[in-house]
Amino acid sequence: MALPNDHNKKKRKTLVRRSAMPPSASVAVATPLCPSVVYSSPSASALDDQYEGRVSGYTYAREGHPNADVLAEKIDWLENAEGGLITGSGMGAISALFLGLLNKGDHILAGDQLYGRSLRMLTQDMPRMGFETSFADPTNAAIFEAAIKDNTAMIMVETMSNPTLRVADMAAIAKMAAERNILLVVDNTFTTPALYRPFDHGADIIIHSVTKFLSGHSDVTLGYIAARDPDHRTKIRDAAVTWGMTPSPFDCWLAERGLHSFDLRFEKAQTSAAIIADRLAELPGIKQVLYPGRGDHPDFELAQHLFAGAGGNMVSFEIDGGRDVVDRFIAAVPDIPFAPTLGDIGTTLSHPASSSHRALTAEQRASLGMNEGFFRLSVGIEDGEMLAEELSKAIAIGIN
Ligand SMILES: *Cc1c(COP(=O)(O)O)cnc(C)c1O
Repeated sequence: MALPNDHNKKKRKTLVRRSAMPPSASVAVATPLCPSVVYSSPSASALDDQYEGRVSGYTYAREGHPNADVLAEKIDWLENAEGGLITGSGMGAISALFLGLLNKGDHILAGDQLYGRSLRMLTQDMPRMGFETSFADPTNAAIFEAAIKDNTAMIMVETMSNPTLRVADMAAIAKMAAERNILLVVDNTFTTPALYRPFDHGADIIIHSVTKFLSGHSDVTLGYIAARDPDHRTKIRDAAVTWGMTPSPFDCWLAERGLHSFDLRFEKAQTSAAIIADRLAELPGIKQVLYPGRGDHPDFELAQHLFAGAGGNMVSFEIDGGRDVVDRFIAAVPDIPFAPTLGDIGTTLSHPASSSHRALTAEQRASLGMNEGFFRLSVGIEDGEMLAEELSKAIAIGIN
């Protein structure tokens, strides 16, 4: 029998010539990884056909590549979206959005508890470039509506805030945006399409940090953006290609692999999160537990309605005590990585006062509901009872 690569050997005159894939009557089950930056065409006319849209095809990887498209199509399916775009990071998706759709002088009204880098971009970078930005509490529809200006072109919110897990009044916000023809952008990273699908609730644009739960293994940074309006899709894609927000094929390939198990991971993590929230709430030394699936959450009714009775995988809690208690607690749970991320397949613990919200003063943090003892847990797929046990023991060590 001929070896599969014999056909290359026969043709080979120099090692520099690229090899053809060995012929195979059967096809690969896993998605092939295609790292090629360039694509060659059979003729100039064929390239004309491609550039002029008569046939589809790739030319140069910054403009698009198969692994990004395979991944985008899967997330499109999860989000009820079409023509989504993968970017090199979640922040890349947000950059492509602003650079592609906004004009100088436009005002962006944003939720006041966005992801830290998004806040930084909106407070520091966007104003420097001639955009106007301001922030309002999206859990309070009247306050939020009052912050809309004549030049507001875009509203940007996260359905669930980080790290206090407050729930935005999405129905009211979608209504006020639609009435004024303002684009509604939802960063759905925290909620994921398993809890909430923004296009089903009046959003115009969806953003994801694919880095988090969708890829799920903390080994890629990627973003996703989808627009309802095809004209917006073209502008966003052009901005991403021009400003260089293109993702790596290998990252896309890994993320697609991770996405296969998204439903199962989310379901298991959510079950464990509910168990942990209930167990922590009973412990001495715990000042509060914030979990949208618990009746004592400040936005419980809203969360029940938006998330169809589910509570998600994020649990925040506050231990009564200062930095010494915090450090003792962290040291007592060495198996749960103390790391400022979320959505990993394993549980991770973060402490906003020393990471995501360290730029704020203690008073500013307190006004947002985050004291020194405030922690955020991104629950993974481990057994909920086991995690609750580990955390309970560590909290007892921390407060004593
Ligand atoms: C992590 C995150 C981002 C940024 O995504 P990167 O992939 O880290 O660039 C944006 N929004 C939210 C809600 C996030 O959690």
